[in-house]
Amino acid sequence: RAARTSGEPARAYVPSMGQMFLRRFQLVTQFRQAMETGQVKIHYQPKISLPSREILGVEALVRWRHPEFGDLHPDEFVPAVEAAGLVDALTDFVLEQSLIKVRKWMDRGLRIGVAVNLSVRSLANLSFPDSVSAVLKRHDVPPELLTLELTESGVMADPQRALPVLRALSNLGVVLAVDDFGTGYSSLAYLRQLPVDEVKIDKSFVFGMGSDLGDLAVVRSIVELGHSLGLTVVAEGVEEDVARDQLAAMGCDVAQGYLISRPLSEERLEAWLQARTAQARGIRDETVLTL
Ligand code: C2E
Ligand code: MG
Ligand code: MG
Ligand code: MG
Repeated sequence: RAARTSGEPARAYVPSMGQMFLRRFQLVTQFRQAMETGQVKIHYQPKISLPSREILGVEALVRWRHPEFGDLHPDEFVPAVEAAGLVDALTDFVLEQSLIKVRKWMDRGLRIGVAVNLSVRSLANLSFPDSVSAVLKRHDVPPELLTLELTESGVMADPQRALPVLRALSNLGVVLAVDDFGTGYSSLAYLRQLPVDEVKIDKSFVFGMGSDLGDLAVVRSIVELGHSLGLTVVAEGVEEDVARDQLAAMGCDVAQGYLISRPLSEERLEAWLQARTAQARGIRDETVLTL
């Protein structure tokens, strides 16, 4: 895709099998060094409370500025990193960086949590909860400011195997969230047997809810059943006012999406937060608000 320039006929660059294999191989062999040299960075996407619109926290989303392949999104390299058995190093990196940020905010009097995406593989690693506990202690961050997100398909692939690690994490007091909810095969009733605190409605339903009654019904039922099970319900992929207002009206707790903000680099997030706090104080600072 990097090979396309404007004006060219719409013909996507399709790499051959050999090229794809080579690229995957390069990504995997370069990954550790990329983390050490600052090519791998975290972007943060804000999450707001729906009734109050206050900032509750951010989701950490990894990015790789690759010297040859350009800016890579996680879908383009996390699967390869997982397959190569390197995902624990990624998780440690993201946890470390994210908690450094939370600590800095705490030092400035801000209570902003962070959500980190886990790979299913962490759920099979019995020492993972100890490493989470250690990183929280090292940065002196209370566990309730850390959310760990697991995809629905990840947890449900082997719930019995995931259970001991989920229980240990839950006992630490961190928030456990099921991501991309609605896309897998599980039922909320089954989720009740797992120590989870939060469900994130998959963005595909949130995108469609303004125009598709079926999507709207799915969203509404996740909100209702989620609440009846005592879970916090988060909607991701909130791109429009209408969706946010519908979600607020049905009692969804938290919203995340381009309407609120795209994922931001550390620097841009700081500017965004400053603009928000200025707004909250009733000060309109046009220079910061032009994000
Ligand atoms: P996710 O955890 O479901 O994250 C939400 C994805 O939706 C992000 O894509 C985000 O940029 C995108 N998004 C958020 N709001 C909107 C919106 O309003 N509209 C649209 N069109 N998209 C929106 P991203 O950053 O490309 O991440 C993709 C997936 O990669 C994540 O999905 C997560 O499963 C995985 N991932 C990200 N960071 C990490 C990580 O550090 N470790 C692991 N293991 N996986 C990660
Ligand atoms: Mg997530
Ligand atoms: Mg998601
Ligand atoms: Mg996803």
